[in-house]
Formats: sequence, C-alpha cells, structure tokens
Amino acid sequence: MDTGAKLVWPPSEPSETPPPQHTPTRSLVAARQPQGLIHQIEAVWLGSASVALGHANNWTPEPIDAACPRCARSVGPGEFSPDDGRCTGCRPEKLRWERLIRLGEFDDDLRRAVLETKYARWRKQGTLLGRMLGERLVTVLGDAGLDPARAVLVPSPMPWLRRMRRGIDHAHVIARGVAETSGCRIEPLLQRRRGTAQTRVPASARASNIRGQITLRAGVPADTDVLVLVDDVRTTGATLDACCRALAPRGEDAPRIWAAVACAAIEPGRRGRARAGTAERSVSPA
Ligand SMILES: [Zn+2]
Repeated sequence: MDTGAKLVWPPSEPSETPPPQHTPTRSLVAARQPQGLIHQIEAVWLGSASVALGHANNWTPEPIDAACPRCARSVGPGEFSPDDGRCTGCRPEKLRWERLIRLGEFDDDLRRAVLETKYARWRKQGTLLGRMLGERLVTVLGDAGLDPARAVLVPSPMPWLRRMRRGIDHAHVIARGVAETSGCRIEPLLQRRRGTAQTRVPASARASNIRGQITLRAGVPADTDVLVLVDDVRTTGATLDACCRALAPRGEDAPRIWAAVACAAIEPGRRGRARAGTAERSVSPA
C-alpha cells in the first residue's frame, strides 16, 4: 500500500497543527504533521501515520441516520423503526443507556485515528475526534429538548496503572474535545480497578471480565438532566453496560444515560450504507 509517506532526513521537529476550527467539521481530521523520526519510520514501515489522516480538510462523519440511535449499529433501509426507536439488532436487547451516538464505523480512517489516539498517544487526534462528536451531541441534545449546560460528560474510566503505562487516558482526551464544542462539562464520576483489558479477552467473555471493575467515585451532580458516557469504540457494549450499572441512577428525577463513542465495531456480515470518510466516499457508499 502506498502511504504517501516519505522518510525525510534529518527528521523535522514536531509541529502543532493550526488551531482547530470550530466549524466546519470537515477540517477536524486533519493531515498529520511530521512528528519526528519514530513517526516517520512508523509511516514508512507500518503505514500507520499519514495513511490515517491523509484526507486533509475533507473528512466527514457518516450521516446521523446511518446508525441506530439506540445501539449505534449500522442500519439499512427499514431496519430502524421510529415507532419503538429500535433497530432489528437491538429490538430484543435490554440496554441500560437510552441513546448512543457515533461518528462512524470502526474502519478505515476512523479506525486508524482511534488507534493512533490510543496507542500512539496522539492527543491532538483524540481531541479532534471529540470535537466532532461534541458537534453531533449538541444536535442530538437539541432534538431531544435538552440543555447542554445540564448534560454531564462521563469518560469511560481507565485503571491508573494502565494510564501511566500508556501515557494517555484516551476517553478523557476525547471527552475534552466533546466538551469544547458541546458546552457540556466533564465529571469523572467513575473509576476502574486493575483488571484484564477488554481488548485482551474474546467478545463473549467481555461482560464477565468487566464485571465489578467499574465503580462510582463521585456522586451525580444535582443539576444533571443527562449523563453522557464517552469512549472511543463500542465493541460488544460490555464496558458501557458496566459504566451504566455503576452510575445506576434511580428515582423519577434520575438523569437519563446516553453514550457517545467515536465509532462502533462492524458486526460480521454488516456494513453501513453510508460511511464516514472523504466527501468522495461519503456520496459513493462502498
Ligand atoms: Zn439498534
């Protein structure tokens, strides 16, 4: 695969991308600037750097109706019913959250952007993803008649030792981006004890793996209408479910629980009809 990246010697100094625009969103997944020798070697050998974000000023999230608003699975024509607010995939499921927002599928540029945020500690990329997610969240909150000032962002928690080892709390970085464009505030209400990472266990074991790992560390603020869990990817939904269990709002005045993720894993045999990506690909579904 031609990544378009070239090894330049001597390596240039890391440089910041220009201050992000709040609008339009199309510039938010920006071309990556030279990041020094390590990233240039990555780009040439692994194809992981410039490939991810080589569509400068042209990347857009998928259309909002490309995914089920409840479970964030990709939906095709007729698969989502406005009558019960469910799709064919989530109709029989009991979900602890009411709404799940995403930018697209865990694929292509979005997949690489998420992985670079998480494993290459590229904070700028995580923040940009969060800003796009925040813009989408504001639209959805407005449609539901909810005030962003009374919405609280709750990052999916990471064990402190893993955060130290990775050097980034990616969910918190994304949440900060969401806060910037949505006006919602962040409250790290949850904590997670050390345990096996979800990525290291098979999908079928993730619910049992995460059980008991996530607990409440602070009370829900009184002036909250909706809690919005923020994470990078929804895979099986087990982590989001565990977060909801820990928050466990009760009573008539308890806040709703929503979630916002950069992307959702593609289920076997399914693919969205309208994909996030460059403008060219957005109008020409694969
Ligand atoms: Zn659904």
